Amino acid sequence: MQKILDDIAAQMAAETDRGEVADYIPQLAHVDPNQFGIAVATPDGQVYAAGDASTLFSIQSISKVFTLTIALGKLGDALWTHVGREPSGDPFNSITILEYESGRPRNPFINAGAIAVVDAIMMGHEPKEILGEILQFVHFITDDDSIRFDHKVAASEMEHRDRNAALAHFMKAFGHLKHDVDKVLGVYFHQCSIAMSCQQLACAGRFLMSNGVNQHTGVSVINPQRSRRINSLMMMCGHYDGSGEFAYRVGLPGKSGVGGGILTIAPGKGSIAVWSPGLDPVGNSKLGLKALELLVQKTGWSVFSN
Ligand code: GLU
Repeated sequence: MQKILDDIAAQMAAETDRGEVADYIPQLAHVDPNQFGIAVATPDGQVYAAGDASTLFSIQSISKVFTLTIALGKLGDALWTHVGREPSGDPFNSITILEYESGRPRNPFINAGAIAVVDAIMMGHEPKEILGEILQFVHFITDDDSIRFDHKVAASEMEHRDRNAALAHFMKAFGHLKHDVDKVLGVYFHQCSIAMSCQQLACAGRFLMSNGVNQHTGVSVINPQRSRRINSLMMMCGHYDGSGEFAYRVGLPGKSGVGGGILTIAPGKGSIAVWSPGLDPVGNSKLGLKALELLVQKTGWSVFSN
């Protein structure tokens, strides 16, 4: 595994076409695109890494996997009254199908859906309490208390919130959001601002490769059926309108973020985190996708191989 990751990192270092860094969040526009990291956590407790795997980056939408897990733990299947579970085929911040479907977001991984998930887990609590709970959950699944929010990134998103605020107000107008829009957005932007390295992110995904149990700590995070279902949603909806392409090229459940990270789960085999800040036109890490394609070719880990 170490040799595979070293080879992939060397190949990625030589790439010149690295995509474009997201600049609609000004704080992310400063990130150097010439970085690449990869880490794989395996069921025997090992964490293999190569490239800039210990550099912190903004996990952005990858955090939606963690809030979905919290929401399923708190609300169970009642969550699905607030949000659907079908792929959208639309960009991450699209408002069009929201209008067709009376303000109920298609799935928990598009922005509208993730905002609805935050509203559902708030349950009358103040933003501070929910943020504490989200961070505690991330510490619990990674077994690493050093992980923090990046308040500058969260503030930068809050300042440029118009698009997400429009989605939230639209949902509220249809009765799908209970709390104050700015309070919900404050939590949502902070969850997106969590800064993690590939090594930490690969550790965070361990429970999803082993039926909901973090084999490293021996603790059950979520029941096996929910773990399987979260993986299904990642497979179908984890890359917005690039989800079909990701399934075609990689064939594993994955969730991307506009910070350039991707968390990918090979059930029973590994939890993989890749990061390279340059994005393709649909907002997924260009080299991240390429690296995962190579990893799957070299390991045979696609869920469609045997
Ligand atoms: N915080 C970002 C937004 O709301 C997340 C988008 C993403 O990572 O895809 O626009």
